[in-house]
Order: sequence, then structure tokens, then C-alpha cells
Amino acid sequence: SDAEAMDSVHNKKKRESRINTSGNAKRLAVLSKPELPLILCGMIALIFSSLSSLAIPAFFGQIVEVLSTTGDINTLNNSTMALVIIFVVGSLATSIRAYLFTLAGQRFVARMRNELFGAIIKQDVSFFDQSRTGELINRLASDTQVLQNTVTVNISMAVRYTIQIIGTIILLFVTNWRLTLVMLAIIPVLAISAVFYGKKVKLLGKEVQEILAKTSTTAEQVISNVRTVKAFAKEEKFVAIYGKDVHESYLLGKTLAIAGGIFSGSVFLIAQLAIVLIVYIGAKQVLNGQTTTGNLTSFLLYTLTVAMALAFVSSLFGDFMQAIGASDRIFELMDKIPSIPMSGGQVFSNPPVGEIELNDITFTYPTKGSQVLKNISLKLQTGTITALVGPSGGGKSTIVSLIERFYDPDSGLITLDGVDIKQIDLKWYRGIIGYVSQEPLLFAGSIRENISFGIENASMEDIVAAAEKANAHQFIEQFENKYDSYVGERGVILSGGQRQRIAIARALLLNPKILLLDEATSALDAESEYLVKEAIDRLMRDRTVLVIAHRLSTVVNATTVLVINQGTISERGTHDELVKNESGIYYNLVKRQLGSN
Ligand code: ADP
Repeated sequence: SDAEAMDSVHNKKKRESRINTSGNAKRLAVLSKPELPLILCGMIALIFSSLSSLAIPAFFGQIVEVLSTTGDINTLNNSTMALVIIFVVGSLATSIRAYLFTLAGQRFVARMRNELFGAIIKQDVSFFDQSRTGELINRLASDTQVLQNTVTVNISMAVRYTIQIIGTIILLFVTNWRLTLVMLAIIPVLAISAVFYGKKVKLLGKEVQEILAKTSTTAEQVISNVRTVKAFAKEEKFVAIYGKDVHESYLLGKTLAIAGGIFSGSVFLIAQLAIVLIVYIGAKQVLNGQTTTGNLTSFLLYTLTVAMALAFVSSLFGDFMQAIGASDRIFELMDKIPSIPMSGGQVFSNPPVGEIELNDITFTYPTKGSQVLKNISLKLQTGTITALVGPSGGGKSTIVSLIERFYDPDSGLITLDGVDIKQIDLKWYRGIIGYVSQEPLLFAGSIRENISFGIENASMEDIVAAAEKANAHQFIEQFENKYDSYVGERGVILSGGQRQRIAIARALLLNPKILLLDEATSALDAESEYLVKEAIDRLMRDRTVLVIAHRLSTVVNATTVLVINQGTISERGTHDELVKNESGIYYNLVKRQLGSN
């Protein structure tokens, strides 16, 4: 485990050095192109507000000049009026700027979220075997949020203050070039420290996001398995595990806070010392008659503006670097091209016969070293039922996953009507396959939506007909809102048998050529059991059926029974044939009523 730790440190180093700052920044700029009109209008408003703040010190200078020398009431009135107008225009421009940039940011992040979600959901099943749900959700929620702030507020602020800094420095030169030179000598010191700080924050930012993701994963797993956690009274244990993750992110946050504290403190100190120095030199100039009090006042106000702007820009720099860290994680996902593409490839012009053949299939899970299937050959013919039985872990579900093309085999060929399924358009192919799982999950939504899931514009008659055949119509009619009853959180609660019948109705409505069925192992009450069985029998009629069987009645009726053991087909035949071999696996499974796994 020491070696493991070393390895993870090494990987982290590698990852850090991979963050491509300018590449990511460019890409963010390109991605925000649709927001360009908003951003440009925002920029115009921003220039107005920046210019207005540039004009303020000049007029204050004039007022001081009136007080200290001329005493001209007209100049006082005019300057005050000018200041009022400048403030009004400036505030108006500021609120327009804030509105436009925030809007642009919201739009940008909405688009990024959609794109990222699209990229995630299109990944191969193997990707989800390897990714933690919480981490993916975190990328969607919090990484995109970090980007929103940067693309909008931070960039607009950076532009605003940059304009202010450049404009003010020009005005400073005009007002008093000697003092300006003194001031400019201090700027490189600030710039260098900002760069150091930015680098540190960029790395810390990425780490913070990663640990946050880990924390979400833990919470997600515990909350979604809360019954198990409670049944084993492990609440305290998970509170501790979660607490450890939170503590880790807290420690990083603390480092970030220390870095931020030191940085802003020192920037502040340097800036203030600079002002003291300038006041001192400027006061001497006034005493020597080199400049006037009004002129010095303007100069000091300009200096304050520059100092504030500089402090702000450097803190934005940190935020910006944090966003680069977040964008790196987002782009990594967006760039991941699934190896099993959803579209492209052949679409049959005639309805398929529906014959599936596996020819000498060998398969290893991308996440796992050892071979799960070895030299599997089988043929599923139209109108037949093929039952897979065998000990748990033997490879039955894996065969189903390969037929769905959730994974591609290491070697061997899977064909539909003689055509390699890799040549077939995946969306079309999956459209002709129906799948009913052991523990069907329903989506939050109405019963009607759950039945018509996967079929656009299904008519109500078809939905009801499917529900009737699935023995679901009766219980649905008993709900207050019937087919519009909401399932899921705060909706009607369905029993296991009812959920299965909804799933069967869903498959019946799809009316697939090929049906993959994972029989439920969990026992239902006798009545429910009968209704489900009857519905499944109707569903299996006139299709190519592959069933992972747990019931004796299913295997007795199957055309062919395949015993899958340790990744191979160890017995093959009808129930009557196989049950004769008293030393076979099948005989023993039947003796235990198949229900053991
Ligand atoms: P069965 O359906 O017969 O119980 P499975 O096909 O589920 O068997 O499992 C066969 C083997 O593949 C088991 O050793 C199991 O641990 C492994 N396995 C199943 N699913 C995955 C997966 N997503 N990633 C890695 N290994 C898996």
C-alpha cells in the first residue's frame, strides 16, 4: 500500500503538469461564442462605467483647488453637477453591465451542463462501471458553477479593472509624471506575487474540486443505500468516513485561505506603503511649488483607484486559475469518445427476422483482469425460448449485456440475421430488443410515461392495451389518478409485483423482435406471482426470447436450456434431456428448484 500511495502521488504530479492553461482558456473563449453579443454589449456598458470612474478624481481635484486657491463658486457648482451626472451615468452603466454579464454566464453554464450531461450519458457502459456517480454529478453541478462565475463576473471585472488601470496610469502621467514613475516602480512586485499566487491556487483549486467530488460520492452511496446502512447500524461509521473526506477538503480549503490571506495582506500592505510614499513626495512637491494641492488630490485619488483595481485584478487571477482547474475536468469528460458509438452503421430496410447468434465469444470486463466468458457459441431462433441457468457469477448476465452491446467481446462474433452487430446502427438495434430486468426501476413520472418510456407518441389505447396484457390495468385503474398517477418520490408506492408488471407492459408496448428477460428471484405473494407469470408468458409469445431463468416452470417450457458455469456452456438441451444426467449441474439445480441464485 506504500507503493500504491507513491503511485498516487506520482499520478497526481502527472495530472497537475497536464493542466493546459492557455489551451483551456482558449477553448472556454470559443465555447462562449454564442454569448458574444451579450458580452460585447456588456463591454460597452463596462467602458462607460469605467470611464465615468476615471473622470471622478479630476473633478474632486477641481473642487479642492476651489477651496485651497481660487474660491470660484461657479467652478464648484459645475464640478459638483458634473460629478452627479457622472455618478448617475456610471451607476446605470454598472447595472446594465452586471445584468448582461450575469445573463451571459447563466446561458453559458446551462449550455455547458447540457453538453456535459450529453457527453456523460453517451459513454460506454464500461465507463459507468469505472466512474463514481457522485463524482459525475459533482462535475455537472459544481465544476460548471465555478466556470459560470469566471466566464461572466470575473472576466467582466478583469476587463473593467484593466481599463481602469491603463486609463488611470495615463491620467497619472498627465497629472504628475514624476510621482507616476515612483508609483510604477512598485507594480512589478505586485505582478510577480500575483503570478506565484495564481499557480498555487490553480492546483489547489483542482484538488479541492476532486475531494468535493469524493465527498459527494460517499454521501450519494450512503443515502441511496440508507436501508442497508441502518439495518447494520453503521450510521456512525459512515458519518466518520464522510467526516474524513470533509476534513480533507477543509484542510485544502485552509491552505487556500492561508495563501489567499498572505497574498491579499501583502498586496494591501505594499499598496498602502506606496500611497504613504507618494503622499510624502507629493507634499514636498507642493511645498516646493512644483505642483498644486488640487493636482495632488487628483493624483492621490487616481493612485487609490489603481491600487484598488490592482488588488481586485490579482484576486480575480486566483479565481480564474481555479476555473481553469475545473474546466480541465470538464473537458476531459467532453473529449472522451465512447468506443461503442450510438449511431452510424446499417439500418435494416426490411423488418428483421430476429435471429441472434454468438459465435465463439470470449470476453473480459474492461475493469477486471480475468476472462468472464470463454468460447461461448449459441443461437437464438425466432419463436423459441432459450433459458440460461447456472450458478451465480457464471456469466449469464454478461451474455445478456453482450447481446445488448453494452460491451464488445474480446474475440468472436455476434450477429443479427447474419450481420455483425458492430456493423449495425446501435440505436436501431437496441430499438428492436426489449429488456425486462429482475428488479425493474421506474422513473419519476406518471405511470403512463413509465409504460411509454422509449416510445415516442404512443397512443393511450396502445398503452392501455399493453397494461391489460401485462395484468397491470386493473391495479392502475384503482389509483386515484389512474394512468396519470405519479410514481417515485411523493407518488404512489408500487409493490415489487406491480413494478414488474409495469415493466412488462413497457416491453409489450415496444413489441420487440427480441426479448431479453431476467427473471425475478425475489419471491412474490402467490397471487402476484401468478399475475406476473401470466403476463410474462404473453410477453414471450412469438419472439426470440432469452431468459435468465430462476423458475422451474420457465425452464420446462424453454426450447433450449443452457447451463452457464464459469464462463462456458457446460450443458445444453431441453429440460427433459438435461434432467436425466444425474451427475450434471442442471440435475442438481433442478433438485434445488433453480431458486438458489
Ligand atoms: P451471473 O449473471 O451468471 O450471476 P454475471 O454475468 O453477472 O454472472 O457475472 C460473471 C462474472 O463477471 C462474475 O465474476 C462477476 O463478478 C463479473 N462481473 C459482472 N459484472 C461485472 C462488471 N460490470 N465489471 C466487472 N466484472 C463484472
